[in-house]
Amino acid sequence: MTMYPWQQAAWERLQQMRERLPHAILFHGPAGVGKADFMETFAQSLLCENVRPDGHACGECASCGWFLQNNHPDYRRVRPEALEDEPAGEGEEGAESTTKSKSTKAPSKEIKIEQVRALADFMNISTHRQGLRVVVLYPAEALNMPASNALLKTLEEPPPGTVFLLASNSLDRLLPTILSRCRKFALPMPGHDEALAWLKAQGVQDADSWLREQGGAPLAALAEAEAGSREDMDALLHFLANPAVDGALRAAEKLAKAQLSALVAWQQRWLYDVLSMKLSGRIRYYPRYQKEVAALAGRVSSAKLNRAIKAANERRAVADHPLSAKLFVEDMLLEYTSCCA
Ligand SMILES: [Zn+2]
Repeated sequence: MTMYPWQQAAWERLQQMRERLPHAILFHGPAGVGKADFMETFAQSLLCENVRPDGHACGECASCGWFLQNNHPDYRRVRPEALEDEPAGEGEEGAESTTKSKSTKAPSKEIKIEQVRALADFMNISTHRQGLRVVVLYPAEALNMPASNALLKTLEEPPPGTVFLLASNSLDRLLPTILSRCRKFALPMPGHDEALAWLKAQGVQDADSWLREQGGAPLAALAEAEAGSREDMDALLHFLANPAVDGALRAAEKLAKAQLSALVAWQQRWLYDVLSMKLSGRIRYYPRYQKEVAALAGRVSSAKLNRAIKAANERRAVADHPLSAKLFVEDMLLEYTSCCA
């Protein structure tokens, strides 16, 4: 499980609750500071059979094994359906992801009463290991009214040996009656320098602006930075699939602020796919563009393709220090056009 450097003090504070564990703990703080990961780290440690002196799970016992494989019999995680196809810890922001499966009904962003009711069965059977059951539920403000009321009933008559860990980005959106049943535990915004150092260590370019744009929340900044690069990647691939001079100028305008070394790397992979398609009929990096890659592979001669590959390799070396980002991208796309259009 992941814990972040800025959570160390909070973790130590949390350990003091272990001796007389409350029935329900509500972790609260701004979105994007890592509440869900913190909570799941704690959940694993509560179920661990060999907890380390610093309160962390051992990572090696049978219980930890089940937890990490997502099938611990004494553990339940309750999230809105819209978050369920993301890995644990994602979606603190409330799951704005758009490109999910094309089912006719959008997955719910609410936690529904059926999800809370399903916990009743879980709480009625005896525990498998340590005599403790753990329920993690977030974001608590996603509970709709019937689900809130059902949860409240459970919290009013807490089943023995069960711990509820809830997280919320905004306490004022929760029922006061639920608040009053939970021990509150604050996870505040980390200091700017600490957050910035972490973000840079994740390889985020221009980390300071991303962080400031997200009000200092490091996980929100990371998600935004990654989404930003995905947008750039899509714009580039769309151009590479349909090269043309006017398109090159438009795309360069759009991509002038992108991370240049990433642009070159994406183009290199693209060219690798075209070459691979030509040689073996298979592609590796961009299966979404299978059709376009095949069309290019059929149309562009090996000599021209090799010229494009060589140019991209050379460009990689200067991508970190271009005189002008826009000219760099224009040049790159125009050269590609002259080889592949
Ligand atoms: Zn363990």
